[in-house]
Amino acid sequence: MSDSSNKLPAALREAHRQTLAVRAGQNRTGEDEHSEALFLTSSYVFKDCADAQARFAGDIEGSVYSRYTNPTVRNFEQRLAAMEGAEDCIATSSGMGAIMSLCLAHLSSGDHIVCSSDVFGSTVILLNNFFAKFGVEISYIKLTDVDGWRDAVQANTKIFFVETPSNPLNEVGDINALSAIAKQHNILFAVDNCFCSPALQQPLALGADIVIHSATKYIDGQGRCLGGAVLGSAEHIEPVRSLVRAGGPSMSPFNAWVFLKGLETLQLRMRAHSESAMAIAQWLESQSSIEAVFYAGLASHPGHQLASHQQSAFGGVMSFRVKGDQAAAWRFIEATQIMSLTANLGDAKTTIVHPATTTHSRLSPEERAAAGITDNLIRVAVGLEDLDDLKKDLQRGIKAL
Ligand SMILES: *Cc1c(COP(=O)(O)O)cnc(C)c1O
Repeated sequence: MSDSSNKLPAALREAHRQTLAVRAGQNRTGEDEHSEALFLTSSYVFKDCADAQARFAGDIEGSVYSRYTNPTVRNFEQRLAAMEGAEDCIATSSGMGAIMSLCLAHLSSGDHIVCSSDVFGSTVILLNNFFAKFGVEISYIKLTDVDGWRDAVQANTKIFFVETPSNPLNEVGDINALSAIAKQHNILFAVDNCFCSPALQQPLALGADIVIHSATKYIDGQGRCLGGAVLGSAEHIEPVRSLVRAGGPSMSPFNAWVFLKGLETLQLRMRAHSESAMAIAQWLESQSSIEAVFYAGLASHPGHQLASHQQSAFGGVMSFRVKGDQAAAWRFIEATQIMSLTANLGDAKTTIVHPATTTHSRLSPEERAAAGITDNLIRVAVGLEDLDDLKKDLQRGIKAL
C-alpha cells in the first residue's frame, strides 16, 4: 500500500525479467511457505483500536478489507509491476474493469479521449454507450496514422488509448511517436498490452504513461480466471486505486493467486506461442489456397519493422484470408478438429474464429470493409499444442475450401 511496499529487494532491482517473474512480489508470512500463500479472507482483525485507526487511515501498513487490501492481490500487483518496469499497479476484476477504472479516474465530463479504431469491442461500447452519457467526447483514429493522432488533439484531450498489435490484423502502433505527441499536449498515454504481455513488450519503456492488461488472456494462459490491471507511475495509479477502492471492481484473491503463478511461466509460454505462430504464418503464406496472412513476424507485413523494434517476439495471434467467400471460411473453420471454435485467446489451447460474424459483427459492412475484416478472414490464436498437429489441423481446413 505505502510506497515502501513497492520497493524490490536489492538483489532483484538489477534482475532480468524472467527472474522478476518468479521472484518479485513474494511476501512470505510467518509460516515461511515456499510457494505464494492464498489469502481467502474478506476482512482482517486489528490488534487494538489504535491499530484499527492507523490501518484505516493508511498511516501504517496492514490489511483492512479485501476490496482494497489483500496480500495475494498485492503480491500479483508487485510482480506484474516489476515485469512492466512500473512504479505501481492496481489489479482489477477483469481487463474491462481496468479500462473502466482508468477512464473513470482520469476523465471528467467535457474531456476528450482519442482511441485507436481497432480496439477490443467492449472498449468501444464502454466509451460510446457509457462515457459519452457523461459528456466525454470520443474520437477513433487508425492505429498506424500518426498524423491523424496529431490532428485529433483538442484543448480538452486527456487520454490517448491504443491497443498494439491490433486484433485481428496485427497492425502495429508507433508507441514512441504517439508518446511524443501526448507529452507535448500533456495527454495521458495508455497502451493495452494484452496481446504481447510484459514478456514481449514494455510500453512504459517506449514512452507510454499507462499499461492496461486483461490478465484473462496470456497472464493466466490457461483460460481459467478473469482479471485485469492498470500500471504506471504512483501519481497516475493513485486515483485509479482510489476509484477501485470506492467503486469495487477489485480482483479476487483466488484469481490473483492463479495469475501470480501464471506470471512465472509467462515468458516461456510467450516464446512458445510466438515460435509456433511464426512457423504457421510462414507455412500458410506458402499455401496456394491462402490469399493473405497477417502476422507482424512476417517480412511481408507492413508493421514488421516497427514490431521488430518494439517487441521481442510477435506473439500468438494471427489472421489470414482464404481464397473464397464467407462459406469457404466457415467450411475451413468447421473442418478443424483440434482447434477450439471460440473468440478467446491467450490460452494453451489454440482457438479459431471468424471475426466478421463474431468479434466484429457489431460493425456495419462498410466499417468492416474499412477495417479490413473481410468475409474470408479467419483468426487463429496459436496455443501450445504440437506444431505438426496444428499444421495438420489447418490442412483439414484447406482441404475443405
Ligand atoms: C480480452 C481483452 C480485453 C478485456 O479483458 P476482459 O478480461 O475480458 O475484461 C481488453 N483488451 C484486449 C486487447 C483484450 O483482448
